[in-house]
Amino acid sequence: MAGIPLDQRSGWIWFDGKLVEWGKAQVHVLTHALHYASAVFEGQRAYGGEIYKLKEHSERLIHSAKILDFEIPFSRQTIDDAGNEVLKANKLHDAYMRPIAWRGSTELGLFARGNPVHLAIAAWEWPSYFKPEERLKGIRLTVSPWRRPAPETAPFAAKAAGLYMICTLSKHAATDKGFTDALMLDFRGLVAEATGANVFFHRKGELHTPTPDCFLNGITRQTVISLAKARGLKVIERAITPQEMSQFDECFLTGTAAEVTPVAEIDSYRFQPGDVCRTMMDAYSAEVQPHRAAAE
Ligand code: PMP
Repeated sequence: MAGIPLDQRSGWIWFDGKLVEWGKAQVHVLTHALHYASAVFEGQRAYGGEIYKLKEHSERLIHSAKILDFEIPFSRQTIDDAGNEVLKANKLHDAYMRPIAWRGSTELGLFARGNPVHLAIAAWEWPSYFKPEERLKGIRLTVSPWRRPAPETAPFAAKAAGLYMICTLSKHAATDKGFTDALMLDFRGLVAEATGANVFFHRKGELHTPTPDCFLNGITRQTVISLAKARGLKVIERAITPQEMSQFDECFLTGTAAEVTPVAEIDSYRFQPGDVCRTMMDAYSAEVQPHRAAAE
């Protein structure tokens, strides 16, 4: 269904406890989340019909809601089951999935506790592209004019809709200049992450990655850290200044959508995607698609 606008596709979306037809999964214009960003969501993937780290994603969704001071009226088990139900109903194997929970439309105002919380889960086909040769060219990033906010100014640990306002602005600014994505610095001017993925650098057998103290500690980031350690790489989480980027030879992004994506440039800094990028791409591919990897 590639090319068909997302809101005009067919299939089934899980909506507040039941499957509804794709086109009928709608909300009112006075939805609180639309006006005040009272929404949290997940991005998760299914590989070969299995949702990767489903429990972790459902748990993060529930936790994100708590941080935004609302409770999702469904248990983690129900959310897990709903994800699997959506996948089956749409006959999907390799898919991207978007659970979202939000405050509804019974009232509009800053005091929002009386507003019912909804949950929907959509899924659509999204093949995984582990084509090392192509990916090893690396993508080009530019530093965003927008910075990740300080922890006391935004609920950074939540995967919350409002935090993505500056991500979209950063992405637009980057693509307007011919880059694929933006590297965002934080409120201190330290390296933080890309617009929808975490960042890693390599030098001399060590992976260096910023400490997630004001941005999302991605599930892929955590997976990649343990995969790297298991392969003898030392992983150092620390504050990284932009100037230090000149000392690294490889760089890659991690995220549910990005998987492991090598980076060739960040403005004037150059990286040479090589053995480390390849090793981590292969390791992640084998991790998420064990059956396919075994068959190859
Ligand atoms: N940072 C941001 C801003 C993101 O949107 C994402 C994607 N969810 C990530 C990092 C990576 O998180 P994960 O590995 O859990 O997908």
